[in-house]
Amino acid sequence: MEETKLASAALPDFAEPSRFRAWRAVHLQAPEGLLAKVPSKLRADIHLAAQVFPFRVNDYVLRELIDWNAAPDDPMFRLVFPMPEMLIQEDRSRVAEALAQGDRARLAAVVTEIRARLNPHPAGQLDANAAYLNGQRLEGVQHKYHETVLFFPTQGQTCHSYCTFCFRWPQFVGERAWRMGARTTEGLVRYLRAHPEVSDVLITGGDPMVMRTAQLAAIVRALLDPALAHVRTIRIGTKAISYWPYRFTHDEDADDLLRLIEEVRARGKEIAIMAHICHPRELMPQPARNAVRRLRDAGAIIRAQSPVLRWINDEADVWAELWREEVALGIVPYYMFVERDTGAQHYFALPLARCWEIYRDAIRQVSGLARTARGPSMSAWPGKVEVQGVAEVADKRVFVLRMIQARNPKWVQRPFFAHYDAHAIWLDELRPAFAKRFFFES
Ligand SMILES: *Cc1c(COP(=O)(O)O)cnc(C)c1O
Ligand code: SF4
Repeated sequence: MEETKLASAALPDFAEPSRFRAWRAVHLQAPEGLLAKVPSKLRADIHLAAQVFPFRVNDYVLRELIDWNAAPDDPMFRLVFPMPEMLIQEDRSRVAEALAQGDRARLAAVVTEIRARLNPHPAGQLDANAAYLNGQRLEGVQHKYHETVLFFPTQGQTCHSYCTFCFRWPQFVGERAWRMGARTTEGLVRYLRAHPEVSDVLITGGDPMVMRTAQLAAIVRALLDPALAHVRTIRIGTKAISYWPYRFTHDEDADDLLRLIEEVRARGKEIAIMAHICHPRELMPQPARNAVRRLRDAGAIIRAQSPVLRWINDEADVWAELWREEVALGIVPYYMFVERDTGAQHYFALPLARCWEIYRDAIRQVSGLARTARGPSMSAWPGKVEVQGVAEVADKRVFVLRMIQARNPKWVQRPFFAHYDAHAIWLDELRPAFAKRFFFES
């Protein structure tokens, strides 16, 4: 991978499909550069926001996904370029002041302090989901739900481009203590041997598809160990179909990756690609469609998920089109998430009531094959809480909720109720209806 200075054209010359080039915050300010079409005040403000939020974008996204005639309102622009309103006014002023002073140590201190206030590890993911082996904590392994273990390989803790809304943002910024990752699979394999209840291993990041095929193959083959017959499905979480589809078509080890998928299937296990796809535009370019076709031909199942986000995909028609397009390409719609309580949640979040309306109005428009998408779900401390609807019960207006996944499997699928609240954006703002506490709080 190579990081180059920007050419003076509005859009840099597009590199060969096999040549990956990424651009960072330092490339944002040049008046003739990446943001040539954006007014200079906004350009400076985006540069400012990129001091706090991770920023990285590649040629493919710049060229194929963003509609520059619609920027900065374009949803794909908002997907990767941090907007100043992602910071509260006071923090914006503090960063602006530190930038103007040109004092790097001061800027770093301000940025670190702001980041620490943005709830870098929501839902207790560092501690509550930790996996232990013989009393020792395993780095880079999380076990929150009975049948699924998450594995974070160190080399996969970055992405081809960064999403502005990403809840894993602390992985991409300097703070070492906030990063997680495992260098080898040894601990993972020993853990799985001791946990026959685990049927799924999710290799995640960042984006594990930034790894060379050889690195990924080492992990995947470790899971083919005969002692791990209980692991039936290997999931790989990725946004590469949207951000770097050449990973599956033109990269020098693209073919090896497809052979690896075939090998896993020949050994009797499934490979499930958990694709992050936020907007139908991501599936329009031919390279993305070719990538999907090759993955499917190799025998991978592709499932798609995304949060519902203000500015990016906050309309039912966008979701309906997304799901239709996915199904047409043989991708299974899986989850609609609610933006998590971290980072710039205040900027991207929609009221839960609105999320549910978007889901309802979208699902009504699509065929049954696209109704595999689960409704707006909050990945909160107790589990994945889905807003199933709004109803009148005993003269009260309530949210009907259920847990799709839970720390305690007995909590799954049990309906529960909260007072309707038109403004609430997260579980911790909901109050139980018909009870003093939610059943999982005792
Ligand atoms: C969603 C999720 C999983 C997988 O849950 P499924 O419903 O089986 O897809 C596993 N671990 C964590 C932490 C999750 O958020
Ligand atoms: S690709 Fe996924 S992990 Fe990477 S920044 Fe986007 S949402 Fe986050």
